[in-house]
Amino acid sequence: MSNRRKTRVVNIGKLKIGGDNPILVQSMTQTRTIDIAGTVKQILELEKAGCEIIRVTAPDIKSATALGEIKKQIHIPLVVDIHFQYLIALEAIKQGVDKVRINPGNIGGEEKVKMVVNACKERGIPIRIGINMGSLERDLYAEYGKYGLARVMLESARRHIKILEKLKFYDTVVSLKASDVNTAIEAYDLFASEYDYPLHIGVTEAGTKWAGSIKSAVGIGSILSRGIGDTIRVSIADDPIEQVKVGWEILKSLGLRQRGVNIIACPTCGRTEINLKKLAADVESALEKVDAPIKVAVMGCVVNGPGEAKFADIGISGGLKKAVIHRGEVVIRVVDEKDVLPVFLDEIKILLIEKGFEKEAEKIDYEIIGK
Ligand code: SF4
Repeated sequence: MSNRRKTRVVNIGKLKIGGDNPILVQSMTQTRTIDIAGTVKQILELEKAGCEIIRVTAPDIKSATALGEIKKQIHIPLVVDIHFQYLIALEAIKQGVDKVRINPGNIGGEEKVKMVVNACKERGIPIRIGINMGSLERDLYAEYGKYGLARVMLESARRHIKILEKLKFYDTVVSLKASDVNTAIEAYDLFASEYDYPLHIGVTEAGTKWAGSIKSAVGIGSILSRGIGDTIRVSIADDPIEQVKVGWEILKSLGLRQRGVNIIACPTCGRTEINLKKLAADVESALEKVDAPIKVAVMGCVVNGPGEAKFADIGISGGLKKAVIHRGEVVIRVVDEKDVLPVFLDEIKILLIEKGFEKEAEKIDYEIIGK
């Protein structure tokens, strides 16, 4: 996005957060961290879904000691989430984590912070300061009526940043999460106009899959549209795979990242002449593993479908017992209703091969036909 605010760059494993680097999609495991096999399994599934950074909680030393083994078995940067306990942080760093989420003001004094900061400096790993509207310092809550929640969240961030800067530590990522969308937008906006630390964006405790996805899309999308944000995490009460999928859809909708095939479908209306809902879902399933920058349209009628989908690389529009396949507006094939799905998938395959995506063409899943 051309209006993207310039942030400093921090390293996280082999990746970088901030600057002109891609906005990364991250998630958090839901397993017990001491269950190494279960945690690794979930992370590997998340990797497949497009998760680029994974955070795990370490509520005790035992969990922290499991991190080294977990890291060995995964392929994306591992972030540890720690509250208050500097000894757990030190163990996690020793185990080789790529980033620590800890608030320096809550560790219990400068000496303890210094030990964590020095350990991070030695290993070259960043710290994320995670401001959450639900867990601000008591004295700041007292101020909130006067200044508004977003401003006191900013003040909280300032305090933690000051502690790190005093120790000459600048590899810091910051998040300012609120469950209220407007508060989150304002907090990130205020922060970005004062600091150049890279930002982890999210709307916290967004809600269930349906409502939470919408809330996250509106909140994260609004913040990103202001040019703010270097990594995103969708917090919905569902499988973390869904969180990653929603994150990618947000980035794809704003044109910020590309992953998979972009599928568009009309909302249907009185003109619709095919079972569009099923066809669109089948096409989406069949193309789930394909990663190529093409736009595929599934439209409900031949009257308006090809025209409305003129910007798609390939589309299908339903007619009475027949459907037409078109590239842009140009009809290339007429197909009987019963053959719609296999023929359309074949045509997508041809298109992918023509565009040089032979390997991706092989990933079309024809198993969906007849289901
Ligand atoms: Fe209705 Fe046809 Fe437009 Fe779909 S493409 S919404 S069926 S007019």
